[in-house]
Amino acid sequence: MNPLGRLRSSHAENRFEAWIIEKHRERVLSGQTEPIGPCPDDTFLRGLARRSNTIPLSDPRIDHAANCPECMSRLLVLREQHQSQNRKLVLALGMAVCLILAVGIFAWSRYSAHRQQMLASVSPVPQTVDLWNAGTYRGEQPGQLQSVVLPAARVQLTIILPRFSLPGRYLVAVTRDQSGSGVIAEGLAPATSIQAQERLSVSLDLRDVEPGAYFLSTTHEQDQAAYYYPLQIK
Ligand SMILES: [Zn+2]
Repeated sequence: MNPLGRLRSSHAENRFEAWIIEKHRERVLSGQTEPIGPCPDDTFLRGLARRSNTIPLSDPRIDHAANCPECMSRLLVLREQHQSQNRKLVLALGMAVCLILAVGIFAWSRYSAHRQQMLASVSPVPQTVDLWNAGTYRGEQPGQLQSVVLPAARVQLTIILPRFSLPGRYLVAVTRDQSGSGVIAEGLAPATSIQAQERLSVSLDLRDVEPGAYFLSTTHEQDQAAYYYPLQIK
């Protein structure tokens, strides 16, 4: 088997092999096909196979190897071994990188999902209810109804109280009926005047509330009159 033929077909793109082929061609053209000098030892050939691009090309042992079928076939075997080792190393490195990435992505997605869960359970949903023009139930007296919709979540509820509402603290409650029984959630908050409107902000935990029809009530701390608004929880 012609080692150079095999060489040309498999690794012709390599600078080292291209150079060896060129060297051999020069020899054949000048009629000098006999290798010069003794065969170099295995250590040299191994080094040549491994670090072919760093050994000076003027080294006479390279000149010999290029023209000695024995050295050349040994060189090819060593080079094959070295390249297969390199491929295994690259493969192992690639697998290690993939593994690290996979573990990292998994850990991140777990952390991210956990964080979102935490946020969902901690951060209240901001909601604003404008009752400025609302009529109310006062006790059993039906009036012009302002229907309110809230999600079944933790809600940070801002209420714009109806006109003529008094300043002061209000008890805000979600109840089953307009008599004030069956309180589902409640909170106490002071009303503050913003642009001549009384506003208050209260946190209501409606996470465990079944969707359906309820009432939202506001009760002034001193006045004690409760106003009820039909409420839908979705
Ligand atoms: Zn030789």
